Amino acid sequence: MTLVALPELLEHARERRFAVGYFEAWDLYSLEAVLAAAEAEESPLILGIGGLSANHGWLRSHGIEIYGAACEALARRTNLPTAILFNEADSFEEAAAGLRAGYNAVMMHTQGWPWERLVADTKALVHAAHGLGVAVEGEVGALSEMRDGVLDDSGGRMTGVGEAVAFVEATGVDCLAVAVGNVHFVHDDHTPTIDTQRIRDIGAAVSVPLVLHGGSGTPADQMRAAIEAGIAKVNVGTRLKRVYGAALDAAVRAGGSDANLLHGSRRADDVCVRAAEAVTSEVRRMIRVFGSNGRAAA
Ligand SMILES: [Zn+2]
Repeated sequence: MTLVALPELLEHARERRFAVGYFEAWDLYSLEAVLAAAEAEESPLILGIGGLSANHGWLRSHGIEIYGAACEALARRTNLPTAILFNEADSFEEAAAGLRAGYNAVMMHTQGWPWERLVADTKALVHAAHGLGVAVEGEVGALSEMRDGVLDDSGGRMTGVGEAVAFVEATGVDCLAVAVGNVHFVHDDHTPTIDTQRIRDIGAAVSVPLVLHGGSGTPADQMRAAIEAGIAKVNVGTRLKRVYGAALDAAVRAGGSDANLLHGSRRADDVCVRAAEAVTSEVRRMIRVFGSNGRAAA
């Protein structure tokens, strides 16, 4: 196991103009699928789960700890430089539950919060996290979202350079997620337009690495341009769940006669293993788009 602080992982990527994908998992099979892809591509790795679509009651009933422990155990399987992220907690309290649970980075989903709460809660989280050797990803601005195939930009707001500078200085976050035309929950149903000049302007004004959420739907050419402009981490979730769902449907339809082999066996017949293999292929493809392949050691 080579646990690496997230800021260190991203600083390394920024200097070399590639991005590390945060391929958000949702269960053990998907966590292992992401790990397998990073191993195959010799890429730095960010393992983790997130709260954006999750049942928060479940997360707080030790779900946060269960997956933190799982990520830590999985990290022991690999010598890749690895960070472990609890992404998009819904509050300070929920993020704080991740601080002693195996993650070495946490993030709150703060879109729509008033500035005072955003700064106060993020600053408090940074203080608590840094005391335990955990990094914090902060966020300024708000992403538009896809809802049932329709773009909802009512809550979207681009990140301003001035507010990014003020936020990083006031809170001490280790990396910054920005809204630059990227969209949450998008896959192939909408093509976002990324404002690369805005990325350059924010990157020149703040010292910390920049993060692009909503990476599922951004075409490869725009993604390369965003990374060239200074994005060091890209979040991908929606696309992987769609790939997994389609492969799982096919595996269930193809079926088999032995339920013990089909479900939970971890053998080739296991429908979730077959679905996870599809996720691994997709993650490998995206790792190559982000340019982190072959970068585990250099
Ligand atoms: Zn996100």
